[in-house]
Amino acid sequence: MTRAAIRFLILDVDGVLTDGRLTLDREGKEPCKTFHVHDGAAIQRWRASGGTVAILSGRRSDAVAARAAELGIARVRQGVPADEKGAVLEGLLAETGIDALDVCYIGDDLPDLPAMAQCGFAVAVADAAPPVKRAANYVTRRPGGHGAVAEVIDLLLQESVGARQA
Ligand SMILES: [Mg+2]
Repeated sequence: MTRAAIRFLILDVDGVLTDGRLTLDREGKEPCKTFHVHDGAAIQRWRASGGTVAILSGRRSDAVAARAAELGIARVRQGVPADEKGAVLEGLLAETGIDALDVCYIGDDLPDLPAMAQCGFAVAVADAAPPVKRAANYVTRRPGGHGAVAEVIDLLLQESVGARQA
């Protein structure tokens, strides 16, 4: 696997696209999430360069669906229990025809470990749980919700440009 071959980015939400804090209303619903504008802009650059993106989240929130729609992310899998993340990931690979080795998965917590082990390039955000950082091929400098996804996309895009020029 070279990082330059990565063409599919699979993102956890809580703690990766957000800082991991949950704000619940009195019904236990989560109407709002806080996303970083740098991550959104980078996801758009990634898609414009021909990259594929999916969201894989254990929780379910309309805010995630809205953010995904805004960024043109069609593959959004929410409410996926930790023990089903691996199977859902397999489904995404089958649907896109992309090899697991060409996938970058970004996670922050223990439920992400099986998916990280399946993918060619496993990334942990700076404030991920220690076992997740140990399992990662790369640990970002920026924490989840603060541009960590943008950091990874910039790295991947730089390397794929470098590979084309080499
Ligand atoms: Mg998470």
